[in-house]
Amino acid sequence: MLEARSREYVEQRVRAGVLEQGTVDLLVEMGVGERLQREGLIHEGIELQFAGGRHRIDFPSLTGGRTITVYGQQEVVKDLIAARVETGRPLLFEVEDVRPTDLESDTPAIRFRHQGAETELRCDMVAGCDGYHGVCRDAIPAGVLTEFSRDYPFGWLGILAEARPSNDELIYAYHERGFALHSMRSPSVTRLYLQCRPDENLDEWPDERIWEELDNRLDLPGWKLNQGPIVEKGVTGMRSYVVEPMQFGRLFLAGDAAHIVPPTGAKGLNLAVADVRILAEALTVWFRDGDASRLEGYSAEALRRVWRSEHFSWWMTSMLHRLEGGDDFDMKLQLAQLAYVASSPRAAASLAENYVGLERV
Ligand SMILES: Cc1cc2nc3c(=O)[nH]c(=O)nc-3n(C[C@H](O)[C@H](O)[C@H](O)COP(=O)(O)OP(=O)(O)OC[C@H]3O[C@@H](n4cnc5c(N)ncnc54)[C@H](O)[C@@H]3O)c2cc1C
Repeated sequence: MLEARSREYVEQRVRAGVLEQGTVDLLVEMGVGERLQREGLIHEGIELQFAGGRHRIDFPSLTGGRTITVYGQQEVVKDLIAARVETGRPLLFEVEDVRPTDLESDTPAIRFRHQGAETELRCDMVAGCDGYHGVCRDAIPAGVLTEFSRDYPFGWLGILAEARPSNDELIYAYHERGFALHSMRSPSVTRLYLQCRPDENLDEWPDERIWEELDNRLDLPGWKLNQGPIVEKGVTGMRSYVVEPMQFGRLFLAGDAAHIVPPTGAKGLNLAVADVRILAEALTVWFRDGDASRLEGYSAEALRRVWRSEHFSWWMTSMLHRLEGGDDFDMKLQLAQLAYVASSPRAAASLAENYVGLERV
């Protein structure tokens, strides 16, 4: 296992925080879910806010008892690193100049530098789990991959605040000034987002302006947004992106290396876990029985869930954000869609089952 950053950096990097039921089940099954079960916050629903009201989507009653768990991605990363270190098997941090080669041979290699020494690692298989900006996808020769993408003309300005969450559950708010999300990471840390320009300049957003805008967009009579010191601030771009296939020779792409979703559906981390589950099972069959059929089917199997999640993430994004250049007609359509989801159990069930994660795709 090779990681470009330091252990400290990846253990502190704040990103996603909503784990699907299937992700939690897998982590528990793998023996790395002990702290997650102790500290994770189980949520049985989310709230949609629009047109001056809040509407709860109840997950267990709509999905046969399924829920989500709020547990920071950096906490998952800490648990996985600790488990790996305990096995005594290699996990190298701060590797440099990583170059996957000979991917079509039976012994693909990864060349890299570690602590000043040039090293070559010969492999049976290479799992390219190095994120959107990694090197594995680019190591595949031109013409092999087909790219599908959609850029959105907005981003999310996200903050982490040392403030008690103001609501027990996530609030997705559609507002004429733009989307806002109330989320949390723990009983004392709130995570909040505002729709902004993709290239928003954070210097123009002193803390007071952020709180004012959040107050505006999340406002509801009788409800108050708790404030506290902002300990992190950042802008995330919004993009949908998929490459097909997710394999070349003995290189298998997984997670953001192969696909990106806008964060509105809370799917990025869960999709990465779902890919790795399929890949691990396929590798087990190959190493144990010499049977390559599951590995050959990896890309097609993973892409089925990828595209379901791509659609759900795009749908949530389109329903909840003010569209650049959008007119009143667009707004009325969005409000009609939100009202339908809030009032029809069948429409709500569709959102709920996608949000908690479909068992089969
Ligand atoms: C700022 C931000 C906020 C996000 N918020 C949310 C959210 O709220 N909800 C949600 O669902 N998703 C969110 N996401 C998406 C989610 O975090 C990703 O989908 C998820 O991290 C994907 O996991 P991954 O393991 O595929 O990639 P990553 O988590 O990116 O991991 C890839 C790893 O590979 C390492 N690496 C890169 N290049 C190399 C190299 N050459 N050699 C060795 N190692 C390398 C990187 O350092 C990194 O540690 C967010 C993403 C970002 C960037």
